[in-house]
Amino acid sequence: MKTAVIYLDNNATTAVDPAVIERMLPYFNEKFGNAASSVHPYGWQANEAVEESRRLIASLIQAQPQEIVFTSGATEANNLAIFGAAQAYAKHGKHIITQATEHKSVFDPCQALKKRGYEITILPVDRVGRVEPQAVADAIREDTILVSIMAANNEIGTIQPLAEIGSLCHNRGVIFHTDAAQAAGHIILDVNNQNLDLVSLSAHKIYGPKGVGVLYIRRRNPRVIILPQMLGGSQEYGKRAGTLNVPGIVGFGEAIKIITRNGLKEVNYLRELTQKLCNAITEELSEVSLNGPPVNERLPGNLNLAVNGIEADALLLSMRDFAFSTGAACSSKNLEPSHVLRAIGVSPEHARGSIRL
Ligand code: PMP
Repeated sequence: MKTAVIYLDNNATTAVDPAVIERMLPYFNEKFGNAASSVHPYGWQANEAVEESRRLIASLIQAQPQEIVFTSGATEANNLAIFGAAQAYAKHGKHIITQATEHKSVFDPCQALKKRGYEITILPVDRVGRVEPQAVADAIREDTILVSIMAANNEIGTIQPLAEIGSLCHNRGVIFHTDAAQAAGHIILDVNNQNLDLVSLSAHKIYGPKGVGVLYIRRRNPRVIILPQMLGGSQEYGKRAGTLNVPGIVGFGEAIKIITRNGLKEVNYLRELTQKLCNAITEELSEVSLNGPPVNERLPGNLNLAVNGIEADALLLSMRDFAFSTGAACSSKNLEPSHVLRAIGVSPEHARGSIRL
């Protein structure tokens, strides 16, 4: 690959920050211990590093460290949240509420549950991809056990009204899960103020390594129960068996440290760049329009543009010096127009001509 290719696909994944790599390196060789080896210093050292990361990640979302369960990424965290809660609360009911623009790692577990006798309500979204909190309230029934609504969309950057939805879920005694893989580091996440019960995060969207994420599981007010989906060891408070990815976890903690340090500065800078790029393209090219919310209301660093009269795949092929995508990387081999764009009312033709920068 030519090195001159300009990378415009940070919504798919980010490069690992050099400081993150440096922090991870010793945990591959010198400090290679298994964090579960509690009988010698190699294990203690690894465990200490894991616990330090757990504290850093917890503090990002105002949680307690014991509420953080490490996973292999947000896909696994979403699966664990949905299957884990569905099984734990099956005796209370089998109704789950989600919405039309969720990531496949939320949709597919819901579809699998449907085959096992659960009922899934998929709420519609408005023209910019937002869910109406009142629609969530109206959809909650006696047998509703879980509401799963993402914090921010990975294709069109829509930020959902988490606090409103969280508060109404709590008032009705329903568990609230949010997939915050894209949102972390870009918008405020506060499990207490926003009444979040389960939160999925991923390291590789915020300059951390791939293959590591977490599920936050609320322990108090209320204590949320999820049943483990991975069995075979007592790691992670019995919620997720398996030897921990110590270097990855250390890297995740360091990435959080960096974004916390940069805080609003990075967010404002990203938003400024996003606005500049959007203006430059849409003012110059009348055939291009923005899908989703206006830049000042969407996730900083996300643009989704419809290019009238063109197939996005053809555009991708003709612009080899730029790395961008037509939507979610996880679905990029799928030839169907994006379900997210279809959900906000974009026609199939426009959806096929849309790109994400
Ligand atoms: N949810 C959203 C909203 C995402 O954007 C992604 C990453 N494409 C995931 C979940 C999956 O995360 P991971 O790659 O860590 O499995």
